[in-house]
Amino acid sequence: MSLPRNPLKSLNSYVLIGADRNLIVDTGFNLPESLQDLRAGIEELGLDMKRTDIFLTHFHADHCGLVPKVVSPDSVVYMSAVDRDLFDDVMDNADNFWVLVERRFLNEGYPKNEFERTQTANPAKKYLPEVKFTSVPVADGTRLSYGNFRLECVWTPGHTPGHVCLFDKDQGIFFSGDHVLFDITPNITAWATLPNSLQHYMNSLLRIRDCPVRVTLTGHRENDGVLSERVAQLIAHHKNRLANVERILEDQPGLNGYEVASCMNWDIRAKNWADFPPGQRWFAVGEALSHLNYLIDQGKVKRIVKNGVHTYFPVKTCECEI
Ligand SMILES: [Zn+2]
Repeated sequence: MSLPRNPLKSLNSYVLIGADRNLIVDTGFNLPESLQDLRAGIEELGLDMKRTDIFLTHFHADHCGLVPKVVSPDSVVYMSAVDRDLFDDVMDNADNFWVLVERRFLNEGYPKNEFERTQTANPAKKYLPEVKFTSVPVADGTRLSYGNFRLECVWTPGHTPGHVCLFDKDQGIFFSGDHVLFDITPNITAWATLPNSLQHYMNSLLRIRDCPVRVTLTGHRENDGVLSERVAQLIAHHKNRLANVERILEDQPGLNGYEVASCMNWDIRAKNWADFPPGQRWFAVGEALSHLNYLIDQGKVKRIVKNGVHTYFPVKTCECEI
């Protein structure tokens, strides 16, 4: 279904049809265009929503945004408890939630006026459901059964702190959500509740690499790649990015997180950092931070607070300067 005015372009929503009950995996932004597509799909398949449940791979708005619009009182919505807590937080304490996010990003050198511009257009904020919905928690190993599908939940934190994939081992079908995407790389940002998210993400990639998978059904874009090959590419991608960050700090020790992001290599049509759409700059800084946190945990980088802003040094330079 379409995700208008968003670089992701579309969301892949999957429907598993059973004799008794059906399962929809992920919904879409709370936007009329996405809703129209989802409703058209429900109609085309003749789904009775009274006999249809919904599985959410994670709490992002492009996956959970439409739940209240299509769910019936008889539907069960599945979601991990960890992402449910984040969802509740962003729905119940939105102002406080975004104030804390803003504080964290300003501490990384994000210019305040630019941050505000980013946030007014932030789809993660704008396209969440208007109301909450009840959900049933799933955890690693939780089993669900729909039609011919015997599904197992696979705990894959990284993209969000409580991301969960679904795996039908007998048929070799893997619903990867946003854990593995084929033609774009999932955004790995810094989370207050998941220190060193990149390490978690890499562990979650290694965890699934050798699963006997025939078909990988992703949350966005293409879904005809080979899982093990893509996992290897994603790990190599992050290793390159870590090396990129290390080189930047060797050349320019003492940059803040925003400045590090501005120096990194990005695969984007923008000519340079100034040309980045504000929303993409926000994702880029989050990505820079997750890589900096990983390097700090490895003892390769140190964070020093100067005038309330975090600055980063390669460990050697840092020791000399202190
Ligand atoms: Zn997504």
